[in-house]
Amino acid sequence: MPPRPQTRMRRCATLLLLLLVAQLQLAAQSAAPLTLVKAARLFDPRTGNVLAPAAVLIAGDKIKQVGSSSQIGVPAGAKIIDLGSVTLLPGLIDGHTHLFLDIIVLPEAEQYRHANGLFAPGLLLAIVESPSKRALLGAQLAREDLESGITTVRNLGHSGVDGDTELRDAINAGRVPGPRILASGRKLITPGEYVQNLNPALTDAILQQEFLLIEGVDRGRQAVRQNELQNVDVIKVSADENLTVPELAAVVEEAHRHHLRVAVHAIDTTSIQTAIDAGADSIEHGNDATDEQLRLMRDKGIYFDLTPTFYGGGYLKMAEPVIVIPPAARAERLSSAARGKQRYDQLVRRVLKSGVKFAAGSDMCWFYAGETRGQASIAALLNLRAAGMSSLQTLRAITSNAAEMLGWQDRIGSIEPGRFADLIAIAGDPVADITQLEHVRFVMKGGKVIRNSVAPLP
Ligand SMILES: [Zn+2]
Repeated sequence: MPPRPQTRMRRCATLLLLLLVAQLQLAAQSAAPLTLVKAARLFDPRTGNVLAPAAVLIAGDKIKQVGSSSQIGVPAGAKIIDLGSVTLLPGLIDGHTHLFLDIIVLPEAEQYRHANGLFAPGLLLAIVESPSKRALLGAQLAREDLESGITTVRNLGHSGVDGDTELRDAINAGRVPGPRILASGRKLITPGEYVQNLNPALTDAILQQEFLLIEGVDRGRQAVRQNELQNVDVIKVSADENLTVPELAAVVEEAHRHHLRVAVHAIDTTSIQTAIDAGADSIEHGNDATDEQLRLMRDKGIYFDLTPTFYGGGYLKMAEPVIVIPPAARAERLSSAARGKQRYDQLVRRVLKSGVKFAAGSDMCWFYAGETRGQASIAALLNLRAAGMSSLQTLRAITSNAAEMLGWQDRIGSIEPGRFADLIAIAGDPVADITQLEHVRFVMKGGKVIRNSVAPLP
């Protein structure tokens, strides 16, 4: 049956509109300032291929063309940034961070007095102090991440009510420097997680500043809608043994209805199973995952977001410059770090063998004396290499794989035409020496140079 005239007219109008939009986009692109970045090499983490010598032509904030210098030439009016002998890589992605927490370790004796003694006291202080102070902390840590080459982060909770969505918007508006942020807003938890034993007169008021409580299926859906009202990019749920599959499944369904992915914190086997059965999009940490659970995750396409934050004695590295650790406690920490390292090496091996999709996050929420947030985060991410991943797999976990986990593979995670011009440069070959990522020489975000210790700024 031929289409009715009215439908035909509507189609014509739609076509005309599409043509107009395409023309406007072309016009905007051709008017955008051109920048040509040249370097000895460009490394593509997805393929492992090296382009040498390399040139990246940027129009405005997007990559327009990638090729050898002779292929691209020098387009008229292009600003040239010649970085010489470095290797270009896509900007790094931290799949799991907390920009609004910077917890200083408490003395050992004090830790043992509190339930969850290492984390909860610092968390409570962050909640009850001024939100303005916390916002400024977030701005500082965001800038420090960016300066180290992390051009995108997924911030998964602990930002007060709206710290991360507001910081995201302030960065996007050019008010403060920082990475692209995918913000989760408040974390969804079951009652009793994270903090207990609060003053009963203040408990609800304190918890509401940081969390949304899942108490039954309806409250779960409502929590997603509340975050949706705050314009979040992703939903973060913390699963423990109290969270039921129907509760989490309702959260996932509601989130997906709003086109939001769901990242689920799950460490023990029961919580991991809940996350799998409820259809989570990524499982954060996942430390106790069994081989069968890895297989299920692979079959369901659930991302494994590894967080090797304390791998190989991270606690002592963080605590020793800040507090006095009695010899007996130190010995205990050392042996527990060795046991933890062994378990994590096995986990990484099993993850790689299973074929499950993986990415990585620093889970950084700690204060490391003498290090910026960016330095601490990258050191944590590179623990994956020490835990048995190849350099290439580690690089993928914090570039192309992470972009796909975020659902942003068409915007970030690779140096390709159409992607944001988020580039970093390091000395040497990242496959031979991945620790070069701890000394990033050049950072560009959206075509704008953030730092350049290679060449004088043009
Ligand atoms: Zn976390």
